[in-house]
Amino acid sequence: NANITSAEDAAAAVLAGAEGCGLMRTEFVFMERRQPPGQEEQRRIYQAVSDALEGRPMVVRTLDAGGDKPIAYLDQPVEENPALGIRGIRLCQQSPELLRTQLQALLQVERAEPLQVMIPMISAIDEVLQVRNLLDELKAEVAPSCEVRLGVMIETPAAALIADRLAAAVDFFSIGTNDLTQYTLCMDRGEPALASRLDVLHPAVLALIEQTVKAATGAGIETAICGGAAGDMLAAPVLLGLGVRELSMPASLVPRQKARLRRLSIEQCSGLAA
Ligand code: PEP
Ligand code: MG
Repeated sequence: NANITSAEDAAAAVLAGAEGCGLMRTEFVFMERRQPPGQEEQRRIYQAVSDALEGRPMVVRTLDAGGDKPIAYLDQPVEENPALGIRGIRLCQQSPELLRTQLQALLQVERAEPLQVMIPMISAIDEVLQVRNLLDELKAEVAPSCEVRLGVMIETPAAALIADRLAAAVDFFSIGTNDLTQYTLCMDRGEPALASRLDVLHPAVLALIEQTVKAATGAGIETAICGGAAGDMLAAPVLLGLGVRELSMPASLVPRQKARLRRLSIEQCSGLAA
């Protein structure tokens, strides 16, 4: 699968041989503007992305602003530690209209495949239950016949550690290895001096990924990887060995990664992970 931000990206993903979109980062729909896009504008953008995917699966992540993705007009107070501050779902809890408008727009997208909505920066079960309630309420209002699947990003150690409980509340997981590695190792993902040690193959990160996949498997749901590790040739086989069966990466990496991974068997990957 491909990680995308626009309809142009979606078309490139199809050309590159991606089987769908495993992560649409919607922050880009909100950036380089003076105010948030309205419901109709968002609906048109998401519809264009869906059309460009030509019936392939589409996972749309709700707004993940804050932290390393600041949005000027949202007027966030200066934070001492933005990575640990009001970002992702926390920002949407603080400004519920943002999420409400976005979900309403998404629910109106016409497509044959189910709509898949994913929430970023989850660290507690109540965050998921709040979004589930809101989604159910809006679906009844806006699009009762829309088929929706709700998933969460596993990108905080807390989410990985309560993965069994989260798995009972959602339809799929996608592991954000960029943030999961940053938060597990306490190393800023944007700090060049630490870049060589920001390693997804650190045993602590792998243990959290393994625990997440086990919880998902136990609950009968799928775990994808949408962080940078999915497109990494050294890491991807280990992740497959841990039970991950879906990888989402920039479209430009899809052909190479497909060609390389096809040469490996799952047994080889399991051996590597062990
Ligand atoms: C991640 O954290 O791995 C992820 C995919 O999200 P982002 O890089 O957009 O924070
Ligand atoms: Mg992230």
